[in-house]
Amino acid sequence: MPEYNAPLRDLRFVLHEVFDAPALWARLPALAGSVDAATADAILEEAAKVTAGLIAPLNRSGDEEGAQWQAGAVRTPAGFKQAYATYIEGGWVGLSGNPAYGGLGMPKMLAVQFEEMLYAAGASFALYSALSSGACLAIDAHASEALKTTYLPPMYEGRWAGSMCLTEAHAGTDLGLIRTRAEPRADGSYAISGSKIFITGGEQDLTENIIHLVLAKLPGAPTGPKGISLFLVPKFLVEADGSLGARNALSCGSIEQKMGIKASSTCVMNFDGAQGWLIGEANKGLAAMFTMMNYERLSIGLQGIGCAEASYQAAARYARERLQSRAASGPLAPEQAADPIIVHADVRRMLLTMKAMTEGGRAFACYVGQQLDLAKFATDAEERQHAAALVALLTPVAKAFFTDSGLESCVHGQQVFGGHGYIREWGQEQLVRDVRIAQIYEGTNGIQALDLLGRKVVADGGAALRQFAAEVRHFAHRHETPYGSLLVEELERLEAVSGWLLEQAKSDANAVGAAAVDYLQLFGYVAYAYMWARMAAVAEAKRGEDQAFYAGKLATAAFYFARLLPRSLSLEASIRAGSAPLYGLTAEQF
Ligand SMILES: Cc1cc2nc3c(=O)[nH]c(=O)nc-3n(C[C@H](O)[C@H](O)[C@H](O)COP(=O)(O)OP(=O)(O)OC[C@H]3O[C@@H](n4cnc5c(N)ncnc54)[C@H](O)[C@@H]3O)c2cc1C
Repeated sequence: MPEYNAPLRDLRFVLHEVFDAPALWARLPALAGSVDAATADAILEEAAKVTAGLIAPLNRSGDEEGAQWQAGAVRTPAGFKQAYATYIEGGWVGLSGNPAYGGLGMPKMLAVQFEEMLYAAGASFALYSALSSGACLAIDAHASEALKTTYLPPMYEGRWAGSMCLTEAHAGTDLGLIRTRAEPRADGSYAISGSKIFITGGEQDLTENIIHLVLAKLPGAPTGPKGISLFLVPKFLVEADGSLGARNALSCGSIEQKMGIKASSTCVMNFDGAQGWLIGEANKGLAAMFTMMNYERLSIGLQGIGCAEASYQAAARYARERLQSRAASGPLAPEQAADPIIVHADVRRMLLTMKAMTEGGRAFACYVGQQLDLAKFATDAEERQHAAALVALLTPVAKAFFTDSGLESCVHGQQVFGGHGYIREWGQEQLVRDVRIAQIYEGTNGIQALDLLGRKVVADGGAALRQFAAEVRHFAHRHETPYGSLLVEELERLEAVSGWLLEQAKSDANAVGAAAVDYLQLFGYVAYAYMWARMAAVAEAKRGEDQAFYAGKLATAAFYFARLLPRSLSLEASIRAGSAPLYGLTAEQF
């Protein structure tokens, strides 16, 4: 059973030393009075206690027992209910919520660090509140004042949870195909009818009420994605005084048996004329839902980083203790029967890959969080727009790259344990199973890649990419970093490949689809190179202090640049091979 401890030293390094978050908060009036370095540290410390002490101990038993469905009700595994009650007392669900409705108003830079810990301690448990935070964001951004006042406070408190109801059996990626209907009622509300599948936390026994955000079509709505509207549909209707009234006409038809996140309920939700209220404008539901989905995408990315960190901690401990064979250079622990496996180059390769990708991802999550904070809180409109463009560009990279490398890391962690990684006792096989879904839901990683290359790069002629590139170049030229020239070289590769793809896309309809996944990976490696160059610059300047920590950072940066970044070479070659090799077979020949 793995023991998880939040990597507080590293989280603080990223927040304070690499990004100097307190200085940023001090210049943003909306944050200046409410958060500073001491508050952030206190929150992180408390989060570390809650995640390691309350949530992590339920991860294994939750996996073994799983969520159970009986006659429409879902029972979460033993201990979840009590732990959830304690968890919400800490106000964690509303951590970055709007203070006007009871949220704590904390910056996203801090919230991403909390979310990483939460997923590392238990991905299934984390999902029950992650969806609520996203639902609150969509309600806050798009719903009427009456809906906000009624629903946000109990949701931020965690007494009520949120769910996201998009997927139908025949409509997953292509939401334009949905059939759920919304008929106007005389009182201004709507009657929602249809069936949704795969709804995370659609039914559970942790909260008093569940607020479903449902995509549905109004009568006469245009076909396709432009005819979708978003509705708020509570499990229990809410009286004028905020108390719970009658049960709404919706039910959980069953839950799925699945590979991982077994303690999270994945529900079939049937809406049989359930009463709901429109959020935002009619037929603009997808845009409103994207507010929630962008938040969720970064959050699901953090599932990749959290699971990888948990796997890394266990694997590093095991590699120091497990004795097998001698070091190639001769016995290093002659008093023992064999050397610990951490002496072997291949075990080091696996551990360093995990460490470099997880710490690079942690820094990149904080960077994207910083842009989200600037997009929301900066007083200057131009600064807000600049940050919003970066958020749009980088969100698909964060979601897909964090989760692809999260799986790679968890598989390495499992491999470090040899056969013991495949059996249940050590927890590594659960991490592999739990992290796998993160590549699939919230839009598959293939779809994230299409979003990045098709919509965020090709469709805007590379404008947002140029903005990001200018920042990276500025950093490389201004700061003392051993990796400045390598960083610029890799950035130029990304720019050259992007320019080539912009040209290809003009004459080849399949150019974007054929290159997208490799392109997102290439982008990810360059983005992490930027992060590692920034971390190395800080560590270099602090050489001498806290020697083990900063020397460790520099050695990990060296590994990243020498052993992982060169993956960009094969990605470029693969992209430049174009779409033709993918279309050599007819459908029948597969
Ligand atoms: C455990 C779990 C929890 C979930 N939670 C929720 C939830 O809370 N709410 C919710 O609404 N949904 C949820 N989902 C649904 C999830 O988001 C979808 O499964 C996912 O978006 C993919 O849709 P699909 O399964 O229909 O696959 P499909 O859309 O059928 O895709 C199948 C394959 O085709 C690819 N593909 C499809 N279209 C294209 C294209 N245009 N170009 C290239 N490739 C394409 C996909 O990438 C994928 O590899 C959950 C799913 C699971 C398994």
